[in-house]
Order: sequence, then structure tokens, then C-alpha cells
Amino acid sequence: MTLEIIARPGKRAYPPRVTAFTQTFWQGLLDGRFMITKCPKCGHMSFPPKRICAECWAPNTDWLAHSGRGILYSQSVVNAAAFYFAAELPFRLGIIDLHDGPRIATRLIGMDEPPPLGCEVELVTLAYEDGPLYAARLPAK
Ligand SMILES: [Zn+2]
Repeated sequence: MTLEIIARPGKRAYPPRVTAFTQTFWQGLLDGRFMITKCPKCGHMSFPPKRICAECWAPNTDWLAHSGRGILYSQSVVNAAAFYFAAELPFRLGIIDLHDGPRIATRLIGMDEPPPLGCEVELVTLAYEDGPLYAARLPAK
């Protein structure tokens, strides 16, 4: 599955630091793929991506393109944030259990009303002028 890539005007409010290791994740987002890491020894999946397994400490995890689909576990509206994000207030955040994957936190978009917990959500790439971010929304179908 491929994440929809949604063009966003302007630059990211607080651009993430990209390293030689995380470059695979950020390039994946630009290509519409949500890359996580999976341990070749115990199978534990991690997000944010980790070079060393957080479960069994095996080195050299593998990259895996996740479907980007999951279930909304929790959500909240943020009304106060660090000044970098003040222009974006209020915004909605969610905690998502990726199908057969890790639990992640991300921005929820396109939801004026609180979404029902347990609903299906999908990740999308937000393509800003200076690079990508990701967010989740109700599936476009
Ligand atoms: Zn492991």
C-alpha cells in the first residue's frame, strides 16, 4: 500500500533532524511509504525506527514498509503548544495501533469532530516545501 502524498504550502514548523540512519524513513515518506524497523531476531517492530532492537537488543534491524493503516487508540485536541506550533493551534493528536505493528503518536487531520475510538485510520504524507511529515486521517476509501 502507498500513502497518499498531500502537498502542503510553506515549511514545517519544526523540521525534524535527519541522520544517515533516519534518511531511509524520510525518503520513504517522500515516496509514499511508511518505513518502520523490524528485528531480524525476535520480530519486534519499532517506531520511531531503531537501529538496535528495543526488545532483545539485536543489532542491525531491518527496514519494513508498513501499510500505514491502523486503529485509533486515543485522541486529544491540543490548545497550547510550544511557540513553534502556536500558529497551528488548535490541532488534534492521536495514538494509533498500526495493524500488526507498533503504537505511534501523530497529528490527526480532516477531523472537525472527535473521531470514534477504535475507528480505522490511515497515514498520509504531508509534503511541505522543505520536506515531509506524516499524519493520520479517516480512510479516503
Ligand atoms: Zn529483537
